[in-house]
Amino acid sequence: MPDLKLFNSLTREIETFQPVHPGEARVYTCGPTVYNYPHIGNMRAYVFADILGRTLSYKGYNLTHIINITDVGHLTDDADAGEDKMEKMAAEKAQSIWDIAKHYTEAYWADVKALNIREPAKWSVATDYIDEMIAFAEGIADKHCYELESGLYFDVSTVEDYGRLARAQTEEGESRIGDVEGKRNAADFAIWRKTPPGEKRQMEWDSPWGKGAPGWHLECSVMGEKLLGFPFDIHTGGIDHREIHHPNEIAQNQAFCGCGGLDVATHSGAKIWMHNNFLVERSGKMSKSSGEFLRLQLLIDKGFHPLAYRMMCLQAHYRSELEFSWEGLEAALTRLKRMVMAVEKLREASPREGGDLHQDGERPPPARELTHPKFRPAFDKFDAAIGDDLNTPIALTALEDALATKKVDLAIKRAVVEKMDAVLGLDLFGLSREDLRIRPKTAEITEAEIEDALARRKAARAEKDFATSDAIRDELAAKGVEVMDGDPLGWEWKLG
Ligand code: AMP
Ligand code: ZN
Repeated sequence: MPDLKLFNSLTREIETFQPVHPGEARVYTCGPTVYNYPHIGNMRAYVFADILGRTLSYKGYNLTHIINITDVGHLTDDADAGEDKMEKMAAEKAQSIWDIAKHYTEAYWADVKALNIREPAKWSVATDYIDEMIAFAEGIADKHCYELESGLYFDVSTVEDYGRLARAQTEEGESRIGDVEGKRNAADFAIWRKTPPGEKRQMEWDSPWGKGAPGWHLECSVMGEKLLGFPFDIHTGGIDHREIHHPNEIAQNQAFCGCGGLDVATHSGAKIWMHNNFLVERSGKMSKSSGEFLRLQLLIDKGFHPLAYRMMCLQAHYRSELEFSWEGLEAALTRLKRMVMAVEKLREASPREGGDLHQDGERPPPARELTHPKFRPAFDKFDAAIGDDLNTPIALTALEDALATKKVDLAIKRAVVEKMDAVLGLDLFGLSREDLRIRPKTAEITEAEIEDALARRKAARAEKDFATSDAIRDELAAKGVEVMDGDPLGWEWKLG
């Protein structure tokens, strides 16, 4: 199978994936801070990580994927200023942080499931690794850290190439230096934050530097090292992490390894660093405080199937900005529906025996279906696209080419489509066209009532009683139901 090429943000180059451990792929993804619901922009980051994981499985690597849950340490400003996001929300809601974390972790998992994102090997929860974080910090403190009244700080001038990932000079961020008195460099950051004297935090632990809590950057370094070992293969996150969070993780990792500069990428702790670009709103960056907070649940309430949003994500390359619009979402839904309709014809065909994704690290010979001359062009296009830095927009067109291939054995066609969908994760064989019908939560009429009215209308038309048929149509229209006779997508009706 051809190589897998990925864009490494650290080198700013496309590189051929070569695993650290033969046959294996170890991936760490920065997970959510569970102080609030994720917005759909956050979920784009996990759809991207899922496509990466599925592609690695498809290419024959035995995947170990870790996604963390940040339940402590992330401040309102990534660059080490402000309050702990979790403490702040808990105070606002007058609830315990543990309850806040549980509620929003579960909400996040619901979105993960709805978007058909595969479960990682482990959800690593930051507060489960406090002892390891303290041990890691103790190991680097002498050479790389200094203590101030507010905490233990990492001195970024003690490692080579600080900020290379962000392509930033250490002087950048000058504005940050005033945040904490005594900081040696603007970019220095707290790896342990002491609880101020006289205060009590809901989450605090004893440490050699006094009671306090770990810094956010420390968490990911520690969980990455503990669960995957340095160096591991790929570290992912949203593009904002390229600027502060990941450069800081890298600095800690260099300190931990006692290794040199970043000309050797593995000194950073991972071989490849990958970042998805933002989902934006027309007005600019997506935010949890902006007017209509775009949660996946809002899309569902407006009647959209969540996988339409997954389709929307796949239609853009992960490194491009993607602008959200309701029209765009509706177009993505229609495209998904066309695919599901084409797949309906394949459902009856007997599937090929044996699974497609191999977990044992062996690369099996290409299956008979994939070398079938009729499907060769579509399959080669698919394979080249997904191997070309996860080019999902082209991979989708290859899937459509396969679906449009005529005069072929349906079992073979089914096997090809299943193989492609195992990478894209659109659940084409699990969805029906009814699942994809637009159904706003606020609809004044139930589906059973609509079906009943449509049956009466059909009977009236059969009797050539067009007056009754038109009256029923108007009745439905008054309740927001658009009757779509002869709709090529077989939708028959739509709730507006
Ligand atoms: P957070 O919960 O704030 O730590 O963010 C979770 C993930 O979402 C991180 O990988 C962020 O980089 C990513 N992210 C935040 N905003 C967006 C956005 N608008 N589009 C895509 N990814 C985002
Ligand atoms: Zn992280």
